[in-house]
Order: sequence, then C-alpha cells, then structure tokens
Amino acid sequence: QAKRSGKNTYRLFDVSMNDDMRQRMRIENALRQALARDEFTLHYQPQVDLHSGEVSGVEALLRWTHPELGAVSPQFFIPVAEESGLILQIGDWVLREACLQLARWRADGVFIQRVAINVSANQFARRGFSERVAQVLRESVLDPASLELELTETVLMNQPRETVTTLRALKTIGVQLAVDDFGTGYSSLSYLRRFPIGRLKIDKSFLVDIERDRDNAAIAQAVMAMAETMGLEVTAEGVERHSQLELLRAHHCSEVQGFLFSRPVAPASIPEVCQAIRIMAATASEELE
Ligand code: C2E
Ligand code: MG
Ligand code: MG
Ligand code: MG
Repeated sequence: QAKRSGKNTYRLFDVSMNDDMRQRMRIENALRQALARDEFTLHYQPQVDLHSGEVSGVEALLRWTHPELGAVSPQFFIPVAEESGLILQIGDWVLREACLQLARWRADGVFIQRVAINVSANQFARRGFSERVAQVLRESVLDPASLELELTETVLMNQPRETVTTLRALKTIGVQLAVDDFGTGYSSLSYLRRFPIGRLKIDKSFLVDIERDRDNAAIAQAVMAMAETMGLEVTAEGVERHSQLELLRAHHCSEVQGFLFSRPVAPASIPEVCQAIRIMAATASEELE
C-alpha cells in the first residue's frame, strides 16, 4: 500500500515536473520571437527627489504582452530570459530603447534628468558591455550622466576583479551606477566601498510595515545613515503610503519611488505624471509649513 502510494506520488510529481518544463519551454520559445514581433515595451516609474519635490529620474521596467498569454510579469519571464541567454539581446534592446526614449522626451520639451535601467549579471559580464553602453549613448546623443545602471548585489559578488574593471570603465564613461534591491543579498556596505557606486536602492521588502516593524525600520534607518557617511545617494523603493514617506523623510532619505507617487506608466503618460507629482509635492510641503 505504502509502496503503491509512493509510486503514485512519484508519478504525479514527475508529470507536474514535465508540465513545468513544458511551460518554461513554451515561454522560452515565445520569448525567442518576442523581439522580432515587437512584443516588448518599456514602462517608466518616476523617482522623486524629496528635497525639491521634482522627478529626478525614471526607471525603465520591461513589459511583455504575448498575443495569447497576454501580459506576462517580468518576475516570471526575466529568470527564463536569463537562463536561456536571451537576456543578452533583450537587455540590449532595453538599453537602446530607454536611451532613445529619454532623448525623445527631451526633444518634445519634457526634461527628465536621467533614466535608470536594470542590468542582468550575464549582460554585465559580457565582453564589450561598457563599449556598447558608450556606443548607445553616442547614438542617442545623451550625456552619459543621464543614464543610470541598476545592478544587484549578486552581480557585484560575482568575479570581483572583472566586476571592478567593468565598473571602472563605466565610471570613466560617466554613467551612474546604483545597487538595486540593496539588503537582500549578502554584501555589506564596507564590501561595496571598493566599487565606484553612487546610489543604493533600499529593497522594498524593508519598507513593508515600516511604521510598526521595528526591525525593518532599524535596517532602513541604518542603511540611510551609513550611506550618508559614505557619500552615497539612497533611493527607497516600494513607497505606497504617506506614513512610510514621513518616516523616510525623518531619516533624511533623499529619494523615493513607489505606487504612492506613480505606478510604472507608458512613456506617453510621463509628462502628465511628472506634473501631477510636482503639484502633490508642493501641496505636501505647504501642509508642513
Ligand atoms: P526592480 O528593478 O527592483 O523594480 C521594481 C519593481 O517594484 C517593479 O516591478 C515595480 O513595478 C515594483 N514597484 C514599484 N513601486 C512599487 C510599490 O510601491 N509597491 C510594490 N509592491 N511594488 C512596486 P516589475 O516591473 O514587476 O519588475 C520586477 C523586476 O523584474 C525588477 O525589479 C527587475 O529586477 C526585473 N526587471 C524589470 N525590467 C527589467 C529589465 O529591463 N531588465 C532586467 N534585467 N530586469 C528587469
Ligand atoms: Mg530596478
Ligand atoms: Mg529593486
Ligand atoms: Mg528586483
């Protein structure tokens, strides 16, 4: 009896594994065609400078709409793209499209200071990455400081020597460098000191219930204080409520990003969203006076 049910369990498990793999294969094949079929778009989420109340930059976030599957979340397809190597082409498309979009806004009289893009480990480690970045900046006629690259701690922990070389090359070009999802990896602030990083993005998991969760509040506060000492900018991600914003403000957080100000939006909506944020920020500071 036990043996039989054991066998059944094994079979069930096996079948579901196959389904899972089949699903991944389907996604991978669909991803393979997505670029050629023009199924990717970028949405942009404003980053708000708490001192000036202005939008200081926007983060480009990849969106994929498959004709049958519909909108697929990046949390799901980015890992498939990374494992299949497709992220190299996709990431290159993101880099180019985000730079061109920033130039388009400016040509339309909408001045956005910078655009941030997410860079995968494989993309970053690929030979010629920094040269490619320089080339795209030239083609889109942008000053390099207008581009920020978001790297995760994992990227920085891999092959430290090569990483330092690439980061230095990027720094020489003049692009800005940020550590994304800071606090979720195993790197320490002292480890990060060896890299020419300008900004930390505190992971949104530390902002969850920050008004009541003392551990989260203490971590966020410690990161902000140490970053200040080290001369790093800090952006808090995932700000959804006013109460979170007030707490961050009290700890001298300089920049925030989150649904409170805006969800990621299509490029055509950016001018009105920036205007709305300006009005919101002005009203908020009047209330404080
Ligand atoms: P990320 O770079 O940390 O981006 C922030 C994520 O948090 C985005 O999810 C954004 O929509 C979400 N978010 C922003 N504000 C809030 C908030 O107030 N509350 C909550 N709950 N969430 C908020 P999204 O767009 O689903 O992207 C997920 C992840 O996928 C990104 O995390 C990034 O790691 C990856 N990703 C997205 N686009 C790209 C890309 O072009 N290239 C690469 N390599 N990865 C990307
Ligand atoms: Mg990011
Ligand atoms: Mg993040
Ligand atoms: Mg993330």
